[in-house]
Amino acid sequence: MRVTLLGTGSPIPDPNRAGPSTLVTAAGLVVLVDCGRGVLMRLAGAGLYPPMLDALLITHLHSDHITDLGDVITSRWVMSPVARPLTIIGPAHTREVVDATLASLAPDVRYRLDHHADLTDGPAVDVVEVTAGETFTIGSANVRVGATDHRPVEPTVAYRVETGGKSVVLGGDGVPCAGLDELCRGADGYVQTVIREDLIRQVPSARLQDILDYHSTVEDAARTATTAGVGTLILTHYVPGMQPGAEDEWRAVAAAHFAGAIVLGDDLTSIDL
Ligand SMILES: [Zn+2]
Ligand SMILES: [Zn+2]
Repeated sequence: MRVTLLGTGSPIPDPNRAGPSTLVTAAGLVVLVDCGRGVLMRLAGAGLYPPMLDALLITHLHSDHITDLGDVITSRWVMSPVARPLTIIGPAHTREVVDATLASLAPDVRYRLDHHADLTDGPAVDVVEVTAGETFTIGSANVRVGATDHRPVEPTVAYRVETGGKSVVLGGDGVPCAGLDELCRGADGYVQTVIREDLIRQVPSARLQDILDYHSTVEDAARTATTAGVGTLILTHYVPGMQPGAEDEWRAVAAAHFAGAIVLGDDLTSIDL
C-alpha cells in the first residue's frame, strides 16, 4: 500500500502546496481522499489520471477539502473513453454538495454533449453518504468509517482503508477524540492534518486564532498515534505552510510525543506501508 500526499497545503493559497488531498494506492486500488486546490495536477504528478480513480472519499465539506470537486467530476467524465460512474463517499450533505456542483456544470455538460457525438450522457456519479461505524468495500479494500471531532463542523468522518494486510487511517481535520483513537488502533499508517499552535499564536489575527480549537496540533496528532499504537505518523495540511528547511523542526515537535516513524514533506511525498 502506498500513501501519497498530493496536496499538503491549507486554505491559504501557496505557490508550492496544493490543497488537501491524499492518494491511497495498492494492487488494483486507486482511492482519492479529499480534493483540494490543484488535486488533478498533483494526481498527474503521481502518474495517474481521473479515469483511474476507484473512488473519492470526502472527510468533510469544508471548502478547502473539496475545492476541485467540479474538476474531478468533469475531467473523469471527458477523459473516460467509456462511461464509468465516479463513486463519491462522504458524510451527510455530500449529496447536496455534489448535486449543486453538477448543477453548476450544466452549461458545460450541454456544450460537450452537443459537440462530441460519442458523448451521449453527462457525468455519472454514485454518491454514498456514510456515518461512523459503517463499513464498505472498494474493490479489494475494506473501509471503515470513524467519527472525528471538528465541531462546529458536523458531521465529519475519517476512513480506515485496509487491503493486502496493510491499513491506513485518513484522519481529516479535527481534534483528538475516542472515535479517532479507535479507528487508528494498530494501523500501519495514520495521516493527520495539523497546525502548529506555537506559530499560529504569534499571528495577530482573530480569524486565524479561531482555527486552534478545531484542528489537531502536531503534538495532538503524535499523541493520538502513540495512544493508538500506529506504525507511521504521516502529517499533512500544514498550517501555517511548512517553510523550506523546516521539516526537521516540525518532525521534532511530533517526535517528542511519538516514537515511531514520522513522514512529512512537500506535495507528492509518498510512503510505502
Ligand atoms: Zn476542516
Ligand atoms: Zn482543512
